[in-house]
Amino acid sequence: MNLVTDVPGRVLAVYAHPDDPEVSCGGTLASWAARGADVRLVVVNAGDKGSHDPATDPTELARRRADEVHAAAAVLGLSGVDQLGVPDGEAANDLALRGRLVELVRAHRPDVVVCPDPTAVFFGDSYVNHRDHREVGWAVVDAVAPAAGSPLYFPEAGPAHQVATLLLSGTFQADAWVDVADAVEVKIAAVACHESRMAGDPELVAELLRRRTAETGAQAGLAHAESFRRLRFA
Ligand SMILES: [Zn+2]
Repeated sequence: MNLVTDVPGRVLAVYAHPDDPEVSCGGTLASWAARGADVRLVVVNAGDKGSHDPATDPTELARRRADEVHAAAAVLGLSGVDQLGVPDGEAANDLALRGRLVELVRAHRPDVVVCPDPTAVFFGDSYVNHRDHREVGWAVVDAVAPAAGSPLYFPEAGPAHQVATLLLSGTFQADAWVDVADAVEVKIAAVACHESRMAGDPELVAELLRRRTAETGAQAGLAHAESFRRLRFA
């Protein structure tokens, strides 16, 4: 049982779709930002297929969701966002994405990188983890270990930077917990910024998020927590 109590100086969160970071680790990012961390976010996908209505204009939806990303980032207290605009379903752990991520890691020089655990595929008997989540997770893992810290990988992408800690969310092997009791309501407010995704009652969504962080917190003796699989490289 490991509680992550140190507030990192610099953090980079990398997720696939526009609302993934808030749902996955919004409490952690908000809590750290409130306590002085410089937290940046990379959103790889455009969110252009995030609707069940066949009449939806994907370009218009992507534009709307890009605005929602900025609104949520402001609520979380992030210092900036990069949106790569890859169409939904097309994220690939290829040389191009890894090169872009290495460039962003070397530019921001984070102590901690947060991303989805790409090894989590089947959740229970009714949910397959989205391919974009898995591809982005692997691309981040590969960009951080070893590429970003090795100067001969992507030499044009800036001076090498070794990330100290990688935190994987949405994992079956959680071994590190962050206390988010002071940030649950901020997380809920950030999730609510994604209005295009909020079908139904926002108070029900808020209650679900509160219940989830409370359940995770109970694993670590905390009122509210988010959990991660942690790798340390330095
Ligand atoms: Zn997603």
